[in-house]
Amino acid sequence: MNWQDYKGVIHVHSRYSDGSGSLSRIIGAANKAGLDYCIITDHHTLRHKEEGAEGWHNGTLTLVGEEISPPTNHYLALGIEKVIDSEDGTPQNYVNEVNRQGGLGFILHPASKGKRSLGLKERPWTAWEVKNFTGLELWSYMYDWLEPVNLLTLPYYVLRPEKAISGPDKESLRKWDELTQERRVVAIGSVDAHARRVIPLGIFEVFPYEQVFLTIRTHILTSPFNFNLAEDRRLLYSALRQGHSYISYDYLAPADGFKFETEEAIMGDEVEFSPHLTLTASSPQTAHLKLIFNGQVIKETEGTSIQLKPQAPGVYRLEAYLKGKPWVFTNPIYVRGG
Ligand SMILES: [Zn+2]
Ligand SMILES: [Zn+2]
Repeated sequence: MNWQDYKGVIHVHSRYSDGSGSLSRIIGAANKAGLDYCIITDHHTLRHKEEGAEGWHNGTLTLVGEEISPPTNHYLALGIEKVIDSEDGTPQNYVNEVNRQGGLGFILHPASKGKRSLGLKERPWTAWEVKNFTGLELWSYMYDWLEPVNLLTLPYYVLRPEKAISGPDKESLRKWDELTQERRVVAIGSVDAHARRVIPLGIFEVFPYEQVFLTIRTHILTSPFNFNLAEDRRLLYSALRQGHSYISYDYLAPADGFKFETEEAIMGDEVEFSPHLTLTASSPQTAHLKLIFNGQVIKETEGTSIQLKPQAPGVYRLEAYLKGKPWVFTNPIYVRGG
């Protein structure tokens, strides 16, 4: 298979909910950032889709989903045709409705703590009993950035946002590792971009789309795009659904070409355990590579590749760090049987 690596951003708000940007501003920023795709997801609306926004715009495949956002338990619905209302539904209802429409869905900011000093409410995911969701938002730029921010440090972190970024929060990582013991659960990275002025100071725009689109991307691996909306939409969503994807903080360095695979499978896949199986990760540049087995580091090295012959079935994934900073988190390879 001729796997292509396409990078894009997921979870972008526009004027149609609480973001500040018009469609053309968002697309302009996506083009400038060199994104292969961009998925706009406003709260409780598919208005951009209804207005015909989906399609190829100067080299960026633009798609529209919805952020289903009751007070807690936010869910990102992609590939759906009709707006889904959370008013009368439990989380399982809207997860089911996304599936019924042939879409895929991701649990959002599962460990959100909010930020009282900035007027941001706590919005965690609490409904862990739900079944049949596709995956979760493991690394959100917005929430990672917010972590160390308070009224005093706000100006500093607005000017030096990279200083605030510390990787997916421990709680979400732990939860993901726990969930993948049961079944395949896809992790995505997101920006949750609003390009909004910060209340109460009202003087900073946090953050312009142009800036945020250079940060956390989800790279997908698929057969080549055809520059046809219907076909490429299917390819993109199918790659995300299967976890043929990795998250990368591309601001540190472009991760294009990063791989985690076996002889016959790639990240996101299930493979049969065999004594001949070899897991290989390769990086476009020297990094600290950590192989994780069932949530624990099993092997690590500084270099451009790492290999392991699994001794047991289980869930294997890879993390990469550049100068101590979190850079790449791949979806797992699920080694079954044995
Ligand atoms: Zn949300
Ligand atoms: Zn959001």
